[in-house]
Amino acid sequence: MPEIIDGRRLAESIRQEIAASARAFYERHGAHPKLAAILVGEDPASHVYVRNKVRACEQVDLESESHHLPATTPEADLVALIDRLNDSDDVDGILLQLPLPGHISKTAMLDRISPEKDVDGLHPQNVGLLVQRRAALVACTPSGIMEALKRYNVPIAGQNAVVVGRSDLVGKPLALLLMHENATVTICHSKTQNLQQIASNSDIVIAAMGKPAFLTAAFVREGAVLIDVGTTVLNSDDEVIRIFGEDSKKRNDFAEGKTVLAGDVHPAAYARSSMYTPVPGGIGPLTITMLLKNTLRAAELRRNR
Ligand code: NAP
Repeated sequence: MPEIIDGRRLAESIRQEIAASARAFYERHGAHPKLAAILVGEDPASHVYVRNKVRACEQVDLESESHHLPATTPEADLVALIDRLNDSDDVDGILLQLPLPGHISKTAMLDRISPEKDVDGLHPQNVGLLVQRRAALVACTPSGIMEALKRYNVPIAGQNAVVVGRSDLVGKPLALLLMHENATVTICHSKTQNLQQIASNSDIVIAAMGKPAFLTAAFVREGAVLIDVGTTVLNSDDEVIRIFGEDSKKRNDFAEGKTVLAGDVHPAAYARSSMYTPVPGGIGPLTITMLLKNTLRAAELRRNR
């Protein structure tokens, strides 16, 4: 029977560690590490994400503030806010919730955030430091995946790992982190010719594509470790049947109008693995947890500078 990598349980125990460190930080410095979240526009999912991040801060003794700007905000106003937060001695981390409205340049705004407050690890300076294996702030989802692999004692050195997906947010930083831990890493993407062959020869398969249940059992070698980053809301009954079956609980949930999520790994592939992350409850809870950890780290680095 494969072991389930329980992201919720793992996130809970890491958050307890962060809370203890945040209390120690307060005793040393008389201030709590503080995250400033910026949300531009009215995207309902983004509102939920920001609310969850702010709530998660409260649970681990981090302070937070959120700035909600209307969708029509001129880019110059957002720049002014980022500059103010960069200069504020109270703020340790700045989170700019994506996506941004179309008239605002995502790249210019992410580049504007001070690298030492870049708790999402997306500033080119931090990405460059990651390439050289000396980054302090690394993108949250890849960091969460590395925590999961380490805490579940998954051997990495010398293993063949495939990362399916090459985004700046997940695939690329993750491939670097795995390489730094001495895995032999293959990065695949939508133009890869022989994905099934590569994946089915890999010891660790990490799927970050956003293609629900794309990786079937044929992509998985017996005993491989499966890490599923993909999170897609299903919107057709046919898809729910293809992935979970006609008589499944998920199909009932879908019929009742509940949100049904699917990862990039087909559930039928789990049986071939030695360990896998479920969706939901796998990598998702670790992502916010790493944001908290980065906020604490940014605060410590700034005070120790
Ligand atoms: P993204 O920017 O859309 O990147 C998707 C990547 O998958 C691209 O590199 C794309 O290749 C590749 N891809 C697409 N179709 C493919 C195919 N048929 N074969 C091989 N590769 C293929 O997405 P992302 O931001 O990295 O996110 C990926 C998934 O992870 C999404 O479902 C997202 O919701 C989820 N996610 C979850 C969390 C979490 O906390 N759980 C965090 C972040 C993201 P090309 O480069 O060639 O287009």
